[in-house]
Amino acid sequence: MKPSIIVHGGAWNIPDSLVQTSISGCESAAETGYDLLVSGATAVEAAVEAVASMEDNSAFNAGVGSVLSQMGTVEMDAIVMDGTSMRSGAVAAIQSTRNPVRVAKSIMERTDYSMLVGEGALRYADDQRFERCPVETLLVGRELEDYREYVRTGVLRTRKHFSGETDTVGACAVDEKGHVACATSTGGIPRKHPGRVGDSSIIGCGAYADDRVGAASATGWGEQIMAVILSKTAIDFEERLLNPDGACEKAISTLNDRVDGLGGVIMVNVDGRVGTHHNTPRMCFAFVEGVSGNRRAAISV
Ligand code: ASP
Repeated sequence: MKPSIIVHGGAWNIPDSLVQTSISGCESAAETGYDLLVSGATAVEAAVEAVASMEDNSAFNAGVGSVLSQMGTVEMDAIVMDGTSMRSGAVAAIQSTRNPVRVAKSIMERTDYSMLVGEGALRYADDQRFERCPVETLLVGRELEDYREYVRTGVLRTRKHFSGETDTVGACAVDEKGHVACATSTGGIPRKHPGRVGDSSIIGCGAYADDRVGAASATGWGEQIMAVILSKTAIDFEERLLNPDGACEKAISTLNDRVDGLGGVIMVNVDGRVGTHHNTPRMCFAFVEGVSGNRRAAISV
């Protein structure tokens, strides 16, 4: 079959100053993944490399560009899920790592575990010869300024952030064999307590993939997303509706109605059709839908 991929660069109030970099970052991530898919890569490889390209892009809150915790640490969460084997690999609160999603993939493929956290995750990354990177190489100017404001004022504004500032990344792919996979990566929420883990690395919440239906990746306020298991909820709606946009919309309605939550979700189904929905002011996404030939990179409002 013709492969497809969709990526997101977070659902938040993307300021005008970041619109172009967010769109082009999503576009090039989708192209990276799609080029891999048409050259025979698996959905897992395409989703992971699309996310890794956004981790390398400082426009996004994942890898380079991640937000700082209250203690000034960078603690990242990431997951990958393979819809064929239903295996997943995840890291949570990992530091000093440029591409947490690649460590997550290694955990999925080389261990019997699903998740490693904190020091243990870093030790695993060391053992697998992932290069450590100092915190300075993950930091960007906008984040340092925000952190200094927090240190000065002591004010935490999580709700404002989701109507304001955060930008987790994710990707969902279907490959030529009809297998689906997804990956999600984040620096979490700004000024989080050290050790706080949100939805992104939790199976069913930040991502879910099942070859019978499709693959989904979520972004938004993690505690609320976990309450409604957003990615799995989107996949469940897709199983009933066979309409990815409709399934994403229903999942976001559930998030909105049940927990007054804020977020967005993307999906690809096993037929290679993509969908998105969000209830935040903006959401950045890009896709290449092989079956229709449609391509798009945009900020949805
Ligand atoms: N969901 C992420 C978290 O709560 C943040 C985000 O999507 O922007 O950690």
